Amino acid sequence: MQNMRNFYIDGAWVAPREGTDFPVYNPATEEAYATISLGGAADAEAAITAARAAFASWSMTTPAERGEVLRAILAVYEKRASDMAAAISNEMGAPIDMAMSDQAGSGRSHLKAFIRALDAFEWQHPLRPGVEGQDLVYEPAGVAGLITPWNWPMNQVVLKVGAALAAGCTMVLKPSEVAPMSSILFSEIIHEAGLPAGIYNMVNGDGEGVGSILSSHPGIDVVSFTGSTRAGILISKAAADTVKTVSLELGGKSPNLVFADTDIDAAVERGASFCFANTGQSCNAATRMLVERPAYERAVEVAKATAEATLVDLPDKSGGHIGPLVSQVQFDKVQRLIQAGLDEGARLVAGGTGRPEGLNRGWFARPTVFADATPDMTIMREEIFGPVLAMMPFDSEDEAVELANDTPYGLAAYIQTDNAERARRVARRLRAGMIQVNGAHRASGAPFGGYKQSGVGREGGAWGIEEFLEIKTISGITG
Ligand code: NAD
Repeated sequence: MQNMRNFYIDGAWVAPREGTDFPVYNPATEEAYATISLGGAADAEAAITAARAAFASWSMTTPAERGEVLRAILAVYEKRASDMAAAISNEMGAPIDMAMSDQAGSGRSHLKAFIRALDAFEWQHPLRPGVEGQDLVYEPAGVAGLITPWNWPMNQVVLKVGAALAAGCTMVLKPSEVAPMSSILFSEIIHEAGLPAGIYNMVNGDGEGVGSILSSHPGIDVVSFTGSTRAGILISKAAADTVKTVSLELGGKSPNLVFADTDIDAAVERGASFCFANTGQSCNAATRMLVERPAYERAVEVAKATAEATLVDLPDKSGGHIGPLVSQVQFDKVQRLIQAGLDEGARLVAGGTGRPEGLNRGWFARPTVFADATPDMTIMREEIFGPVLAMMPFDSEDEAVELANDTPYGLAAYIQTDNAERARRVARRLRAGMIQVNGAHRASGAPFGGYKQSGVGREGGAWGIEEFLEIKTISGITG
């Protein structure tokens, strides 16, 4: 059992002041392999104090100096990429090749995007051309509390830490207690890159403990959270008394609108595979597939075939399979929701409850497809966070848009059509932060975030940095 109890505070690894032991499980074996400590108030307090002390000097650095620091972190991050992939794969079950390319790779690509955005950012400019003595200055917002989940651990940590560093904020990171190992390694990377003490601090803990302290403490100015809508609401309430800036990246139930004018086989195969990727544990997963009626039965066949062709296997094996769900809690939740689909009368065409054949240990779930879902069914409304696709037909563009928008979420939406005019028209009508047409991915540095109950604010690139900035107006200095 690895002893990973220490926290990274004020540039050093320190023993918990009032921690309780917490096991880290490998989801493929269901065995604990490390012990972390869930910190208490004294640990959070020490980290916040260090971050506040470091803010005075770090907030006064130039963007060029901060760019150098980010480049140094990137260099060490790249050097430790395979360690990072292994840490992520062990803690949350991503298959090792995908953990390297996508999971660890996302951290690298966000760091690069922040360096680019920081270099191009206009930190000071006149209010309008031709107006003298009216300046706008962008300044770091203060000490940030960063709270992250387990599903894309480095993606989410780097989106927050990279942006906060670029902005000139200091910070306390509380990673997910379910997948803390990648953040411990990330703290080692930060240390090796030579970041001065106190700017970045990491304390492990749970939501009720360190998480709620960070969201309510008067020493924290900005809270940036990714995770469930449930926790996002609690954090917003906790942050209200001290009027913090809060940004939230929450859940989703993203629709995929498949029009009959496109190559149905390719579009459905792509959409279903994307739904199953990362074992369905992505907030932007395309989980509701709405198909124009003439193409519907064919689409169901292709989705079924895609689910059956999706291999589920051990995370330490090389290959393009999917791994287990992250935890027993997540496994139970996915089983319950698949059962709800059956109980509420959706047509099961692939997968179902239980483990895939040949896997009798580990939190593995079966890639599952339900056809003939209706908008009121639980599987069409709740974020499942497992490899479960729900499908239903539509008869008109208006109906497709209405069904797509019929959700409290608004993170992403997907459109499959060969008609560019239709794609433009429908994209404008969808109430979601990210619209992807025919599988074209967002470029690195594009803003990530959602409408409605999917969150507040955007992450990535210049928009991500702005979440950690205040705008100051200075009037009266001329010459
Ligand atoms: P969660 O939201 O409970 O946990 C995410 C992070 O928030 C963790 O670091 C946790 O310790 C912290 N946290 C929890 N409660 C908190 C509180 N009251 N105050 C401050 N911090 C708090 O997510 P989970 O329990 O790991 O997963 C539950 C569900 O959330 C999943 O099934 C999934 O549907 C959803 N989820 C969504 C995302 C996403 O990216 N949108 C990520 C993870 C989980």
